[in-house]
Amino acid sequence: MEKEVLIAGAGPSGLALAVSLSRQGIPFTIIDKDSGPGTTSRAMVVQARTLELYEQLGIADKIVVNGIIVNNVSFFKNKNHLARVPIGQLGQEMSAFPYVLILPQDAHENILVNELKSSGHDVQWNHELKHFRDDGDSVEAVIESESGTVTKNFSYICGCDGASSTVRKALDIDFSGGTYKQTFFVADVESDRVLGGPTIGFLDEYFCIGFPIRTMDQVRLIGLIPEAFKEDGEAPEDFSLMIPYAESILPVELKKVNWYSPYRSHHRVAEKFRTGRVFIVGDAGHIHSPAGGQGMNTGIGDAVNLAWKLSAVLKGKTHNSILETYESERIKFARSLVNTTDRLFKFMVDRERLRNVVVPVFIPRLLKFNYMRERLFETISQIQISYHDSDLSVGESGGIKGGDRLPWIRCGEVNNYRPLKSLDWQIHAYGEVNSDVEALVKDTGLGLFHLPWGKSLKDKGIKENSLYLVRPDGHISAAADTENLEVVKNMIDEYQIQSLSGE
Ligand SMILES: Cc1cc2nc3c(=O)[nH]c(=O)nc-3n(C[C@H](O)[C@H](O)[C@H](O)COP(=O)(O)OP(=O)(O)OC[C@H]3O[C@@H](n4cnc5c(N)ncnc54)[C@H](O)[C@@H]3O)c2cc1C
Repeated sequence: MEKEVLIAGAGPSGLALAVSLSRQGIPFTIIDKDSGPGTTSRAMVVQARTLELYEQLGIADKIVVNGIIVNNVSFFKNKNHLARVPIGQLGQEMSAFPYVLILPQDAHENILVNELKSSGHDVQWNHELKHFRDDGDSVEAVIESESGTVTKNFSYICGCDGASSTVRKALDIDFSGGTYKQTFFVADVESDRVLGGPTIGFLDEYFCIGFPIRTMDQVRLIGLIPEAFKEDGEAPEDFSLMIPYAESILPVELKKVNWYSPYRSHHRVAEKFRTGRVFIVGDAGHIHSPAGGQGMNTGIGDAVNLAWKLSAVLKGKTHNSILETYESERIKFARSLVNTTDRLFKFMVDRERLRNVVVPVFIPRLLKFNYMRERLFETISQIQISYHDSDLSVGESGGIKGGDRLPWIRCGEVNNYRPLKSLDWQIHAYGEVNSDVEALVKDTGLGLFHLPWGKSLKDKGIKENSLYLVRPDGHISAAADTENLEVVKNMIDEYQIQSLSGE
């Protein structure tokens, strides 16, 4: 069978897919119709779950070192300081990356492009996927570039080609949802006054968010364009008219506008993420309001989910029915995300609620109650994503179920996420390793990570003598008690799961 995978689109989703496939030794071609990586900041927030996945790929450090860790979020009302909410290490019991990281999308994409380069892969810029034909055994793709049109066969095509996806349209996949009537603005500006961290300003019934980016005097602004600035319902063509407005809502003094874009937000999810040998990934499959900084992170999550499954199938180490679980796992998350961000968006643009609930009630509570901030972190960081309904998830031990993300445990030198860097299936045993566990490890050839029983495990909700079959992406596939491993064995048999390393 043809092994090479075609990745159409080198935005964050396509690049993350390429880095993942490269780590797993799968041949691929990555093309983009643009002439080079994006040059504007767009998605700013890198969530903890993305950093955990990047840690497995060996690139988390490069992302973190180039970003800004958010220690506080400040709130202003009519330019008066209202509150400063500490959020620095909120997730310290939950993740090795217990914070929110700010890194502009263009810088993020450049790190991924360089990472690919250093492993011997170049993005083929100015190459556009025009058509494709799935003949069941492979997919024939027609790619156009300045040097002509090439027709080539691939094992699979991954459409990481953004919201207007050629791949999705060619597959005639419905992309239902809607477009919000409000228009946002996004602008990268330089300010004489420095922001100490993300800052949310309220002025009468409007809000605007400012993020420090790159250097401390550079600020990314995002907010709603007030009706007063629109002409015939259209957003202004340049930002100069809105500078006094931005300065009246946030503590900034603007000296230069580097980039401005009015931005209509959509909420849509594709009716499916796969047809035969063709997949869609990232914005090609789901788009929603930027509320909560989820869009790009979800695309990267899709990419990592698909990469290890493609790799397992192409290496002949898992039954190819595992590919069906890409759509079922990721479409469910995309649908729930679009619903949540839709509710959040409507909440934020409801001027009465903004005046009567957000400012006087929500912000003081956020300031007062640490547990509220922790719950918020759990949700927006994406560490709560689980695949309970997936065919690849089974069993329960204590409170931990098949489909959950492996609880993160670090005590002293021990870190149960370290073995995840193998990007391979593995068995985790917490408590005693009995003869059944030993036999399972011997029969399957999967790596064993074992932690003797201790209080730190109990604190994480782990039951003594529990065993997890852990997927290459760090989610639990099967959870069981060590004295009854039937569900684990059945899962391994059903999907013909083998270690992905070795011949
Ligand atoms: C102005 C703006 C502001 C934004 N602000 C935020 C924000 O504040 N927070 C947030 O979370 N998100 C934001 N987003 C959304 C965020 O940028 C996307 O979620 C993210 O880029 C999705 O990544 P992707 O790789 O799936 O798709 P994209 O980044 O859209 O990448 C798709 C790539 O595919 C290429 N391509 C398309 N068709 C073809 C083809 N036929 N052949 C080859 N290549 C092709 C394109 O050139 C492009 O490079 C913003 C987006 C915009 C436009």
